[in-house]
Amino acid sequence: MKIQWYPGHMTKAKRAMVGDVKIVDLIIEMVDARAPLSTRNPDIDKIANNKARIIILNKADMADDKINEEWLEYFNNKGFHSLLMDSRQRKSINKLNKLIDLACQEKRERDSKRGIKNRPVRAMVTGIPNVGKSTLINSLSGKAMAKTGNKPGVTKGNQWLKLNKSVELLDTPGILWPKFEDEQIGEKIAYIGSINDMIINIRELATNLIKWFLVNKPEVLEERFEIKDLDEHESLIQIAKLRLCLSKGGEYDYDKAASIFVNDFRTGKLGKISLERPKKE
Ligand code: GDP
Repeated sequence: MKIQWYPGHMTKAKRAMVGDVKIVDLIIEMVDARAPLSTRNPDIDKIANNKARIIILNKADMADDKINEEWLEYFNNKGFHSLLMDSRQRKSINKLNKLIDLACQEKRERDSKRGIKNRPVRAMVTGIPNVGKSTLINSLSGKAMAKTGNKPGVTKGNQWLKLNKSVELLDTPGILWPKFEDEQIGEKIAYIGSINDMIINIRELATNLIKWFLVNKPEVLEERFEIKDLDEHESLIQIAKLRLCLSKGGEYDYDKAASIFVNDFRTGKLGKISLERPKKE
Protein backbone atom coordinates (compact mmCIF):
# COMPACT_ATOMS: atom_id res chain seq x y z
CA MET A 1 0.00 0.00 0.00
CA LYS A 2 1.41 3.39 -1.05
CA ILE A 3 1.57 6.16 1.52
CA GLN A 4 2.06 9.75 0.51
CA TRP A 5 4.65 11.75 2.40
CA TYR A 6 6.12 15.19 2.27
CA PRO A 7 9.92 15.36 2.29
CA GLY A 8 9.95 19.18 2.21
CA HIS A 9 7.98 19.55 5.46
CA MET A 10 9.99 16.82 7.07
CA THR A 11 13.34 18.37 6.34
CA LYS A 12 12.23 21.77 7.61
CA ALA A 13 10.68 20.40 10.80
CA LYS A 14 13.71 18.28 11.52
CA ARG A 15 16.04 21.22 11.08
CA ALA A 16 13.96 23.32 13.48
CA MET A 17 13.99 20.53 15.98
CA VAL A 18 17.72 19.95 15.84
CA GLY A 19 18.12 23.65 16.68
CA ASP A 20 15.67 23.54 19.59
CA VAL A 21 17.22 20.43 21.07
CA LYS A 22 20.44 22.33 21.68
CA ILE A 23 18.77 24.61 24.21
CA VAL A 24 16.95 21.99 26.28
CA ASP A 25 18.01 19.58 29.01
CA LEU A 26 15.20 17.09 28.68
CA ILE A 27 13.37 15.55 25.73
CA ILE A 28 9.89 14.20 26.29
CA GLU A 29 9.30 11.90 23.37
CA MET A 30 5.71 10.85 22.66
CA VAL A 31 4.81 7.64 20.89
CA ASP A 32 1.43 6.02 20.34
CA ALA A 33 0.92 3.15 22.80
CA ARG A 34 -0.93 1.17 20.11
CA ALA A 35 2.19 1.05 17.92
CA PRO A 36 5.15 2.37 19.93
CA LEU A 37 7.89 1.31 17.52
CA SER A 38 6.17 2.36 14.31
CA THR A 39 5.36 5.77 15.76
CA ARG A 40 8.93 6.46 16.88
CA ASN A 41 11.18 8.47 14.68
CA PRO A 42 14.37 6.62 13.82
CA ASP A 43 16.50 9.80 14.04
CA ILE A 44 15.46 10.76 17.54
CA ASP A 45 18.22 8.90 19.37
CA LYS A 46 20.86 10.68 17.33
CA ILE A 47 19.19 14.07 17.68
CA ALA A 48 18.62 13.69 21.42
CA ASN A 49 22.09 12.39 22.14
CA ASN A 50 23.24 13.22 25.71
CA LYS A 51 19.95 14.74 26.86
CA ALA A 52 17.78 13.46 29.66
CA ARG A 53 14.98 11.41 28.10
CA ILE A 54 11.40 10.44 28.84
CA ILE A 55 9.26 8.28 26.58
CA ILE A 56 5.51 8.71 26.89
CA LEU A 57 3.33 5.89 25.61
CA ASN A 58 0.39 8.13 24.85
CA LYS A 59 -3.22 7.14 24.13
CA ALA A 60 -2.61 4.18 26.43
CA ASP A 61 -6.35 4.35 27.14
CA MET A 62 -6.90 2.99 23.61
CA ALA A 63 -4.36 0.18 23.79
CA ASP A 64 -4.42 -3.26 25.40
CA ASP A 65 -3.67 -2.96 29.13
CA LYS A 66 -1.49 -6.05 29.30
CA ILE A 67 0.55 -5.13 26.22
CA ASN A 68 0.93 -1.59 27.59
CA GLU A 69 2.74 -3.06 30.59
CA GLU A 70 4.99 -5.07 28.30
CA TRP A 71 5.97 -1.92 26.42
CA LEU A 72 6.60 -0.06 29.63
CA GLU A 73 9.00 -2.80 30.70
CA TYR A 74 10.59 -2.80 27.24
CA PHE A 75 11.43 0.91 27.34
CA ASN A 76 12.45 0.86 31.00
CA ASN A 77 14.84 -1.98 30.22
CA LYS A 78 16.36 0.12 27.48
CA GLY A 79 17.16 2.74 30.11
CA PHE A 80 14.42 5.28 29.32
CA HIS A 81 12.18 6.82 31.92
CA SER A 82 8.81 5.85 30.50
CA LEU A 83 5.17 6.29 31.27
CA LEU A 84 1.73 5.17 30.05
CA MET A 85 -0.50 8.17 29.54
CA ASP A 86 -3.80 9.58 28.53
CA SER A 87 -2.61 13.16 28.03
CA ARG A 88 -6.09 14.52 28.45
CA GLN A 89 -6.18 13.36 32.09
CA ARG A 90 -4.92 15.29 35.09
CA LYS A 91 -3.94 12.07 36.85
CA SER A 92 -1.44 11.28 34.09
CA ILE A 93 0.03 14.78 34.29
CA ASN A 94 0.83 14.42 37.99
CA LYS A 95 2.70 11.21 37.27
CA LEU A 96 4.61 12.85 34.46
CA ASN A 97 5.68 15.73 36.69
CA LYS A 98 7.23 13.25 39.11
CA LEU A 99 9.05 11.52 36.27
CA ILE A 100 10.37 14.83 34.94
CA ASP A 101 11.83 15.48 38.38
CA LEU A 102 13.49 12.10 38.42
CA ALA A 103 14.83 12.42 34.88
CA CYS A 104 16.39 15.77 35.71
CA GLN A 105 17.95 14.86 39.01
CA GLU A 106 21.30 14.19 37.39
CA LYS A 107 21.37 17.60 35.80
CA ARG A 108 20.54 19.28 39.08
CA GLU A 109 23.34 17.41 40.82
CA ARG A 110 25.74 18.43 38.07
CA ASP A 111 24.61 22.04 38.38
CA SER A 112 25.03 22.11 42.13
CA LYS A 113 28.57 20.68 41.90
CA ARG A 114 29.40 23.59 39.64
CA GLY A 115 27.83 25.96 42.12
CA ILE A 116 24.79 26.68 39.93
CA LYS A 117 21.66 26.86 42.00
CA ASN A 118 18.00 26.90 41.00
CA ARG A 119 18.53 26.97 37.28
CA PRO A 120 15.29 25.62 35.85
CA VAL A 121 15.30 22.48 33.77
CA ARG A 122 14.30 23.17 30.19
CA ALA A 123 12.22 20.55 28.42
CA MET A 124 10.63 19.99 25.05
CA VAL A 125 7.99 17.64 23.70
CA THR A 126 8.56 15.75 20.46
CA GLY A 127 6.65 13.25 18.37
CA ILE A 128 5.01 12.49 15.06
CA PRO A 129 1.89 14.41 13.96
CA ASN A 130 -1.30 13.64 15.87
CA VAL A 131 0.38 11.68 18.66
CA GLY A 132 -0.91 14.17 21.25
CA LYS A 133 1.84 16.79 21.62
CA SER A 134 -0.45 19.84 21.80
CA THR A 135 -2.83 18.08 24.15
CA LEU A 136 0.07 17.27 26.47
CA ILE A 137 1.53 20.77 26.35
CA ASN A 138 -1.89 22.25 27.11
CA SER A 139 -2.50 19.84 29.96
CA LEU A 140 0.96 20.45 31.39
CA SER A 141 0.69 24.20 31.26
CA GLY A 142 -2.79 23.99 32.77
CA LYS A 143 -4.28 26.73 30.64
CA ALA A 144 -5.01 27.64 27.06
CA MET A 145 -1.71 28.69 25.61
CA ALA A 146 -0.99 32.00 24.04
CA LYS A 147 0.00 31.28 20.46
CA THR A 148 3.28 32.66 19.28
CA GLY A 149 4.00 33.74 15.74
CA ASN A 150 1.17 34.45 13.31
CA LYS A 151 -0.66 37.04 15.40
CA PRO A 152 0.34 40.70 15.09
CA GLY A 153 2.17 42.01 18.10
CA VAL A 154 3.31 38.59 19.22
CA THR A 155 7.05 38.16 19.29
CA LYS A 156 8.43 35.35 17.27
CA GLY A 157 10.94 32.95 18.71
CA ASN A 158 10.92 30.50 21.54
CA GLN A 159 8.42 30.92 24.31
CA TRP A 160 8.77 29.06 27.57
CA LEU A 161 5.91 27.81 29.68
CA LYS A 162 6.74 27.80 33.35
CA LEU A 163 5.42 24.49 34.67
CA ASN A 164 6.67 25.08 38.21
CA LYS A 165 9.62 26.79 39.81
CA SER A 166 12.08 24.24 38.53
CA VAL A 167 10.81 23.24 35.07
CA GLU A 168 10.21 25.23 31.90
CA LEU A 169 8.70 23.79 28.74
CA LEU A 170 9.25 24.97 25.19
CA ASP A 171 5.79 25.85 23.88
CA THR A 172 6.42 24.57 20.35
CA PRO A 173 6.70 20.82 20.01
CA GLY A 174 9.31 19.15 17.85
CA ILE A 175 7.61 17.40 14.97
CA LEU A 176 9.22 14.39 13.41
CA TRP A 177 7.93 11.86 10.93
CA PRO A 178 7.87 8.10 11.21
CA LYS A 179 9.74 5.89 8.82
CA PHE A 180 7.31 5.69 5.91
CA GLU A 181 9.54 3.69 3.64
CA ASP A 182 8.51 0.58 5.47
CA GLU A 183 5.02 -0.28 4.20
CA GLN A 184 3.92 -1.96 7.39
CA ILE A 185 4.87 1.04 9.47
CA GLY A 186 2.99 3.39 7.14
CA GLU A 187 -0.05 1.20 7.33
CA LYS A 188 -0.17 1.07 11.11
CA ILE A 189 0.12 4.83 11.24
CA ALA A 190 -2.77 5.13 8.81
CA TYR A 191 -4.88 2.72 10.90
CA ILE A 192 -4.48 4.76 14.07
CA GLY A 193 -5.33 7.96 12.20
CA SER A 194 -2.04 9.77 12.59
CA ILE A 195 -1.92 11.78 9.38
CA ASN A 196 -5.26 11.02 7.87
CA ASP A 197 -4.39 12.44 4.47
CA MET A 198 -1.85 9.76 3.92
CA ILE A 199 -4.56 7.32 3.12
CA ILE A 200 -4.75 6.74 -0.55
CA ASN A 201 -7.35 4.05 -0.63
CA ILE A 202 -9.71 3.61 2.30
CA ARG A 203 -11.00 0.31 0.99
CA GLU A 204 -7.52 -1.14 0.78
CA LEU A 205 -6.72 0.20 4.23
CA ALA A 206 -9.87 -1.31 5.74
CA THR A 207 -9.32 -4.64 4.02
CA ASN A 208 -5.80 -4.83 5.43
CA LEU A 209 -7.01 -3.87 8.91
CA ILE A 210 -9.75 -6.51 8.71
CA LYS A 211 -7.07 -9.00 7.79
CA TRP A 212 -5.12 -7.99 10.88
CA PHE A 213 -8.20 -8.60 13.01
CA LEU A 214 -8.87 -11.97 11.34
CA VAL A 215 -5.41 -13.10 12.42
CA ASN A 216 -5.15 -11.40 15.80
CA LYS A 217 -8.63 -10.67 17.14
CA PRO A 218 -11.23 -12.64 15.16
CA GLU A 219 -13.62 -12.58 18.13
CA VAL A 220 -14.03 -8.81 17.79
CA LEU A 221 -15.20 -9.18 14.18
CA GLU A 222 -17.60 -11.94 15.10
CA GLU A 223 -19.09 -10.05 18.00
CA ARG A 224 -19.57 -6.73 16.26
CA PHE A 225 -20.16 -7.70 12.64
CA GLU A 226 -21.16 -11.37 12.80
CA ILE A 227 -18.10 -12.27 10.75
CA LYS A 228 -17.20 -15.93 10.89
CA ASP A 229 -15.26 -18.08 8.43
CA LEU A 230 -14.95 -15.23 5.91
CA ASP A 231 -11.86 -13.76 4.29
CA GLU A 232 -11.11 -10.03 4.46
CA HIS A 233 -12.98 -9.22 1.23
CA GLU A 234 -16.07 -11.16 2.23
CA SER A 235 -15.86 -9.51 5.62
CA LEU A 236 -16.06 -6.04 4.06
CA ILE A 237 -19.14 -7.13 2.11
CA GLN A 238 -20.65 -8.39 5.36
CA ILE A 239 -19.98 -5.03 7.05
CA ALA A 240 -21.63 -3.21 4.10
CA LYS A 241 -24.69 -5.45 4.39
CA LEU A 242 -24.96 -5.22 8.14
CA ARG A 243 -24.52 -1.44 8.23
CA LEU A 244 -26.79 -0.89 5.21
CA CYS A 245 -24.10 0.86 3.21
CA LEU A 246 -25.92 1.43 -0.05
CA SER A 247 -25.13 3.79 -2.90
CA LYS A 248 -27.82 5.75 -4.78
CA GLY A 249 -28.17 3.00 -7.35
CA GLY A 250 -28.94 0.53 -4.59
CA GLU A 251 -25.60 -1.23 -4.75
CA TYR A 252 -23.39 -1.81 -1.78
CA ASP A 253 -21.06 1.08 -1.03
CA TYR A 254 -17.82 -0.56 0.03
CA ASP A 255 -15.96 2.69 0.57
CA LYS A 256 -18.57 3.65 3.13
CA ALA A 257 -18.31 0.26 4.82
CA ALA A 258 -14.53 0.66 4.86
CA SER A 259 -14.80 4.10 6.51
CA ILE A 260 -17.16 2.75 9.13
CA PHE A 261 -14.79 -0.06 10.01
CA VAL A 262 -11.67 2.12 10.18
CA ASN A 263 -13.52 4.75 12.22
CA ASP A 264 -14.84 2.14 14.62
CA PHE A 265 -11.25 1.13 15.21
CA ARG A 266 -10.00 4.71 15.62
CA THR A 267 -12.71 5.67 18.05
CA GLY A 268 -12.12 2.64 20.23
CA LYS A 269 -15.41 0.91 19.37
CA LEU A 270 -13.52 -2.29 18.58
CA GLY A 271 -11.95 -2.23 22.04
CA LYS A 272 -8.50 -1.47 23.37
CA ILE A 273 -6.24 -2.75 20.64
CA SER A 274 -2.45 -2.83 20.40
CA LEU A 275 -1.05 -3.34 16.92
CA GLU A 276 2.46 -4.13 18.13
CA ARG A 277 3.92 -6.21 20.91
CA PRO A 278 7.54 -6.18 22.02
CA LYS A 279 9.55 -9.16 20.84
CA LYS A 280 10.82 -11.35 23.62
CA GLU A 281 14.54 -10.72 23.86
P1 GDP B 1 -0.36 16.65 17.94
O1 GDP B 1 -0.54 16.75 16.46
O2 GDP B 1 0.73 15.70 18.29
O3 GDP B 1 -0.21 17.97 18.63
O4 GDP B 1 -1.70 15.95 18.51
P2 GDP B 1 -2.95 16.60 19.28
O5 GDP B 1 -2.56 17.02 20.65
O6 GDP B 1 -3.58 17.59 18.40
O7 GDP B 1 -3.90 15.31 19.45
C1 GDP B 1 -4.48 14.63 18.36
C2 GDP B 1 -5.79 13.97 18.79
O8 GDP B 1 -5.56 12.95 19.75
C3 GDP B 1 -6.76 14.94 19.45
O9 GDP B 1 -8.06 14.63 18.99
C4 GDP B 1 -6.62 14.64 20.93
O10 GDP B 1 -7.80 14.91 21.68
C5 GDP B 1 -6.35 13.16 20.93
N1 GDP B 1 -5.55 12.71 22.09
C6 GDP B 1 -4.41 13.26 22.55
N2 GDP B 1 -3.92 12.56 23.59
C7 GDP B 1 -4.79 11.52 23.79
C8 GDP B 1 -4.81 10.41 24.72
O11 GDP B 1 -3.92 10.21 25.54
N3 GDP B 1 -5.87 9.54 24.58
C9 GDP B 1 -6.83 9.69 23.63
N4 GDP B 1 -7.81 8.79 23.59
N5 GDP B 1 -6.83 10.73 22.76
C10 GDP B 1 -5.82 11.62 22.83
